Amino acid sequence: MKTVDNYNFKEKKALVRVDFNVPLDAQYTITDDTRIRTALPTINKILADGGAVILMSHLGRPKDQPEEKFSLKHIVNHLSKLIGKPVKFVPDCIGADAKKTANELKPGEILLLENLRFYKQETAGTESFAKELASLGNVYVNDAFGTAHRAHASTTIVAKFFPNDKVFGYVMASELASINKVLNNSEKPLTAIMGGAKVSGKILIIDKLLDKIDNLIIGGGMSYTFIKAQGGKVGKSLVEEDKLDIALKILSDAKAKGVNIYIPMDTVVADTFSNDANKQTVDIKNIPDGWLGLDIGPETEKIYAEVIAKSRTILWNGPMGVFEMSNFEHGTKAVAEAIVKATKTGAYSLIGGGDSVAAINKYNLGNDVSYVSTGGGALLEYIESGSLPGVEAIG
Ligand code: AMP
Repeated sequence: MKTVDNYNFKEKKALVRVDFNVPLDAQYTITDDTRIRTALPTINKILADGGAVILMSHLGRPKDQPEEKFSLKHIVNHLSKLIGKPVKFVPDCIGADAKKTANELKPGEILLLENLRFYKQETAGTESFAKELASLGNVYVNDAFGTAHRAHASTTIVAKFFPNDKVFGYVMASELASINKVLNNSEKPLTAIMGGAKVSGKILIIDKLLDKIDNLIIGGGMSYTFIKAQGGKVGKSLVEEDKLDIALKILSDAKAKGVNIYIPMDTVVADTFSNDANKQTVDIKNIPDGWLGLDIGPETEKIYAEVIAKSRTILWNGPMGVFEMSNFEHGTKAVAEAIVKATKTGAYSLIGGGDSVAAINKYNLGNDVSYVSTGGGALLEYIESGSLPGVEAIG
């Protein structure tokens, strides 16, 4: 893997694709700067070598034209504070101003370009737009794992203009190392924990994982589709009627491939989808009419914790229940704690996919697992297809 560590940036102008897609409040204050902070080591390495840095990113979902609320100028001051140096800014990511400022950039200086997605050519992956971006620097660094599954101009197409000068930044490198460790180089037993709302979004991933894993733990809303498919009574729980066959196929494939599959035995049910609902714990195959399952029950927690404790590698995607509601977060928290415990005894744990990351952060356990992925969609797509356009482009 070619990373910034294998490249000397002295006297170079590095065009760096970062993911500065941070949340801003109504006053344009950054409410979570994690993504900016994770890019700092790459920026600092280039500066320390004696290079200049040209940063490019998207922010939000502008409609193919400039929009004040999506301007990257809102992050200049904060970025500058974090790096400890002034950051220049140009209000257009291409064009004469960007070109002139990039040309005049000296070693040790930093330039941030305006939001790439103010041009529809960015997401369209237009080659002429990518070429304009490429003309600003003489080495390309991709450190935006969160968008690496998109063949956009700045994430993929631009790389072709730097045939011998393109490398991964530290975020990309550590994301790729982590997922490869789990998928291709894991200590066994390898356990995947899949939760979240629906099975439909996870079928391809489960399919791919069945060839690699020893244990598959199922939780969250998708559990009830598996239970119903096996003839259980699930009340008003979330069920994808058109996925019952697929659920049965996953069960039989798992059996054929020697994968132990764990489905909840008991569940915490509610009489409405609300934190103040009446609740009770019941056998998951026999949910009373009118009740819906919102969490795994204590028996299931216990079994899942035992499987996790015996695992040497763990991949977790998706909560075990509606963890956003305090009365239905117990199962998700218990799984997070079991993963932390296993990690303390030497297991490798990768947490990825939006809501399990939100969950592990809710319980302040992000530092107690081996790796928390920064790119939900990208991680899942990497598992599904074995690579990503942004990764292939660097090679
Ligand atoms: P996903 O994006 O597929 O990972 O789904 C995450 C969402 O699934 C979270 O917002 C959870 O609240 C939701 N979820 C988890 N368990 C259930 C359940 N039993 N019923 C309905 N939604 C659930």
